[in-house]
Amino acid sequence: MTDILPAIEPTFLPVAGGGKFPVRRVYCVGRNYVSHIKEMKEADERDPPFFFQKPRDAIVGDGAVVPYPPDTTDFQYEVELVAAIGKDGRKIDAIMALDHVWGYAVGIDLTRRDRQRDMRDLQLPWEAGKSFDYSAPCGAIHPAAKIGHPSAGAITLSVNGVEQQRGDLKEMIWNVPEIVAQLSRQFTLRAGDLILTGTPAGVGPVVPGDRILAAIEALDTLTFTIGEPEA
Ligand code: MN
Repeated sequence: MTDILPAIEPTFLPVAGGGKFPVRRVYCVGRNYVSHIKEMKEADERDPPFFFQKPRDAIVGDGAVVPYPPDTTDFQYEVELVAAIGKDGRKIDAIMALDHVWGYAVGIDLTRRDRQRDMRDLQLPWEAGKSFDYSAPCGAIHPAAKIGHPSAGAITLSVNGVEQQRGDLKEMIWNVPEIVAQLSRQFTLRAGDLILTGTPAGVGPVVPGDRILAAIEALDTLTFTIGEPEA
């Protein structure tokens, strides 16, 4: 059989210290820090986590220029710890969950906040707000074999050198093992899956020309710039 189109390019993220991590799916936790739930005036903090996905090809790497997306006038950042799955599993017990996490990175859940609010108010799916092109900047993956499994430490984001978000990983409502356990009850997790684990308070809008720097203690920083809209 002859291919009728070129094969789809795989997506890789660099591994700190060498190598590349093949990405399969990109899952995100909807709300996971009390401070952000309060600023969004959303549901009760004790609600169980919920999940959505971004397309794999929404990933952009460190140093990228992210074009200002269409269909929004309120384009916002959310800095998040990314857990990278290295071992398949389903119905994983929380006590075993870290065996499935290969490494960690700094990621951003870029959001068309106006579309997200519209979809929420209309009780429609979140894709318009969350799952658009270039919506998942992600830094290098750090192997857990080298850095361990971070459960505390600063998570910050600055725009043009001014700090806008600051939290601590220990403020997560649902920790990484609990997230892996819950997500694996809805989907079979596979090596290569990424999970963005939610954002602390301080989210806000950006415009073309803005330079974003995101950092989590023990991980390499992630920087990118907002560009003009695509023609
Ligand atoms: Mn988020």
